Formats: sequence, C-alpha cells, structure tokens
Amino acid sequence: MLKVIVIRTLIDNYIWLVLKNNKCLVIDPSNEPLVTKFLKIYKLQLVAILITHNHNDHVSGVSALRNIYQVPVYGPKETNYLNNYTVKDNNVIDVLQQCKFIVLSLPGHTKYHVGYYHYPWLFCGDTLFSAGCGRIFNSSIENMFNSLNKINKLPSNTIIFPSHEYTINNLDFIITNNIALLNNMFIIKYYRRIIKRMILNKIPSLPTSLYLERIINPFIQCTNSFYNENKLIKLPKNMNNFNYFKFLRNKKDTF
Ligand SMILES: [Zn+2]
Repeated sequence: MLKVIVIRTLIDNYIWLVLKNNKCLVIDPSNEPLVTKFLKIYKLQLVAILITHNHNDHVSGVSALRNIYQVPVYGPKETNYLNNYTVKDNNVIDVLQQCKFIVLSLPGHTKYHVGYYHYPWLFCGDTLFSAGCGRIFNSSIENMFNSLNKINKLPSNTIIFPSHEYTINNLDFIITNNIALLNNMFIIKYYRRIIKRMILNKIPSLPTSLYLERIINPFIQCTNSFYNENKLIKLPKNMNNFNYFKFLRNKKDTF
C-alpha cells in the first residue's frame, strides 16, 4: 500500500516521504539526520531522492543522504551538481515498485522548478501553497501564472503537497486585504479557524486539494483555466485576471 508521510524541519519546511511497503523515496530532504533517524525507526529502505528546485532549504540534506544510502538523485537542470538524473517535463520516474511519478515542469519560483505527479498526488515544491503561491526568484511572473494554470488543469481531487507551512499567513493576507473573489469570505474565515486550531496542536495544514484551493486561493482563481469558466469571479475594474494575479503577487511580497 502507498502512503505519504511528512517530516517537519527548519522553521516551516516539510519533507515528504512516499512509502510502499518498506521502501520509500524522499522529496526535498533538507535535513539528513532527521530523515536517517526516521528511516531507522520505521525500518525503511530509501530508494531515491527527488528534488523540486535549487534552494538550500530543499537540498541541504541531499549529498549526505546520497553518500550514506547510495541512492539515485532526480532533480531539474538547476540542481545538476547533485543529480544522477536530470529531469524534464513529462519524464517518468519509476523507482518505487510500479508507483510512477511524472515530472511536471513548473517554473516561476525558480527557472527550472519541477513538480512530481502520481495521480492523485502532486508534490509541487514552492509553486503552490495552500491559499497562496510561491515568490518569484530567478524566473518570471508569467511563468508562475502558467505553472499554476497547468496545475489547475489537473483533476479537482488532486492532493497537493507543498513544501512549506504558510497557510495561516496566506489566509491572513486574504482576510486583511478582503480578497474573496467568489464572495465567500465567511468560508475563508471559517477555514482559518480550523487551521489555526490544527497549527496550535502541531498538526500540519497540508496536504491540501485542488478542489479546496479553487474555493480559497486567489492565485488559483486568477488562472485562465479557472477564471474563464467562472463568471462569478469579481475583479477590480480595469484589471484582467493576469494583471490582478501580478498585483496580488507583488502585494504579498511585502505582507
Ligand atoms: Zn524555494
């Protein structure tokens, strides 16, 4: 049976592990000792390391883990120096006993950022967060817009596994600025209450689902694949969906 398990590290990072029986792969392991400890306690055999992008809080445990366990590393062009296999859009990774992952190119946060998709799961790194999206570093807002649009074309039951616990901050941004594009602020505020209680009890707010993000996440709601089909969405005058997306992303940078 397939399972996903999370290890929390640094301030708000999540390391996701996908398990099949006693074998597992790890995504964005930024902390080798924590992963090693976990593998030992649960008697798991690591079979591969997957990287979404080249930021230290995602890759800092990769070299040490690879040296200890002698497992292959899959990552995008920007993590070339760590990769055994450099992956591109649509590549298939088949390392976990018939649990195949499809590589999705998702630039925007970084230039060569990728996600890993095994229906109905998407490990999206720093592209999509619950109620928010990633910051733009060495890529462009257009790329981020297109990557979120690509994610939003997946089925609504897609389970999203982002790499950071940013949900409360993202919801606060939405509430403070009164951004409820579907006129559903009561749902957003209600959801924040639930998440706040989870966080206080040290329960992750993630994973989330595409279904939920379409209800609460203004960045997802602004993508073409959603906006064009939802005549209920109200944007400020003189703004199209891309301009508003850009406006929100810039505003969030200073929130
Ligand atoms: Zn990052």
